[in-house]
Amino acid sequence: MDAETLRQYLEYYQDLGFKTLYRQAPVAQASPVSLAAPVDGPGGPSHSATPSKSMELPPLAPIDDTLPKILQDIGDCRRCKLCEGRSKIVFGVGNERSPLVFVGEGPGADEDAQGIPFVGRAGQLLTQMIEGTARKEGMKLLRNDIYIANVVKCRPPENRTPEPEEMEICGQFLHRQLMAIKPKAICALGGTAARALTGHKEGVTKMRGKWFKWQDIPVMVTYHPSYLLRAYNVDPKREAWEDLKKLLHYVYD
Ligand code: URA
Repeated sequence: MDAETLRQYLEYYQDLGFKTLYRQAPVAQASPVSLAAPVDGPGGPSHSATPSKSMELPPLAPIDDTLPKILQDIGDCRRCKLCEGRSKIVFGVGNERSPLVFVGEGPGADEDAQGIPFVGRAGQLLTQMIEGTARKEGMKLLRNDIYIANVVKCRPPENRTPEPEEMEICGQFLHRQLMAIKPKAICALGGTAARALTGHKEGVTKMRGKWFKWQDIPVMVTYHPSYLLRAYNVDPKREAWEDLKKLLHYVYD
């Protein structure tokens, strides 16, 4: 690879928010990395969302990466200003071999205190949504069977939306978590997670119920449980239930 091509690769990754790249094989042997695109079904045809011609890209995660190794690399993270107000880093929880990963926005007060994602009111609703939908659909599935993480691992002050720079810096670790778990599907909870994972800029009401892709992994977008706690009418709750049904059948049928 010549210097100019290498420069383009690095610029491309920088635009995606990656600060670290890991070389594990000669670039010619690396598998192509696809960008997120909306798809008609989880494996269906993709519409054009790729910003440039398909490129063979160097790997983004160390070979044989594991969740404990990622956690170790995060360490006592000081990479962005969210570290200033956090009590605990909220890495992720659940089954690291899960075929399904839920991704939220960022820890709230309860999560910050306990170091575990989705343990507050929104978390309790998420648990009910997962376990209740599974039960109604005749599936044996508990919250502990799946994996849950967030776009950022430290609580934003006043629960504000994480800033683009914070998501970029923390994104490398979510990327490694997803690469290490290699789920069959991902569920993006709310607009922030949906936009971070898919690169699409629409609001969650437009994106929900549809399949997108993160790398080659189907992503189902649905409402964030915090929104459902505040929603005045039943429509969003019914829609979230429909989204989860679709997702669970795709993953577990
Ligand atoms: N909201 C999120 O997005 N994540 C959590 O972990 C808790 C609340």
